[in-house]
Amino acid sequence: MNSRRKFLKTSAFASIAIISAPSLALSTSTNRYSNRYLIGKSTPALYGKGYRLLKRAHEAFLDMDSAARKHGMRIRVVSSYRSFYHQNLIWTRKYNRYRSRKLSPKTAVEYNIRYTAIPGSSRHHWGTEIDVVDGSIKTSRYPLNTKNFHGYGIYKNFREWMDENAYKYGYFRVYTNDHTRRGFKYEPWHYSFAELAKPMLKEYTERDVQNILKEQELLGKKYFTETFIKQYTKDNILGINKNLLV
Ligand SMILES: [Zn+2]
Repeated sequence: MNSRRKFLKTSAFASIAIISAPSLALSTSTNRYSNRYLIGKSTPALYGKGYRLLKRAHEAFLDMDSAARKHGMRIRVVSSYRSFYHQNLIWTRKYNRYRSRKLSPKTAVEYNIRYTAIPGSSRHHWGTEIDVVDGSIKTSRYPLNTKNFHGYGIYKNFREWMDENAYKYGYFRVYTNDHTRRGFKYEPWHYSFAELAKPMLKEYTERDVQNILKEQELLGKKYFTETFIKQYTKDNILGINKNLLV
């Protein structure tokens, strides 16, 4: 087989695999995860009671939770795996709320991406992410509020325990309070299982993010221009804890 034929054959195989393969289908580091997987449109095997994570992330979580229990805390997962469709429900609800306050579509998109990822670009699609609080403390208030994790907040001790211990189990806070960081606002509750999430992020950013997002049916997508997506990728997708970058 001449080298051109060989190239065509190999690339044809690779593109089929990207479209249809489940995760881990290819051994090459560049195409381990399909686009569908990375944007939350596949159905990966997920584990956990009251949450959904990939197997390794789930096992590490159990170890971390049992360590926290020895200190009188219980790690409650408020959110973990989210499909594209779930993320789109959140995106749409918030977008419409801003629009109902008479904000322009462009501003609604800008307000959305302070805390909410564009569907198809959320790390919660990967089965490696958790939003966590201390489940031993009962509260009727919405728990994911930065104030709860600082000062006299109910999760201050929990946040400090996580600061000192989460990395031992492979979990790292994604959206840190580093003031030089841009993109999503500080989220003391959001942790990522680095061992799996790092190669996923690398692959995701190697794909054509703009086209992936433009192909989706999303409110406000008219504003996903090349410049906007470039900035969003730099700030929101890559503006994270350095321990989670390859
Ligand atoms: Zn989160």
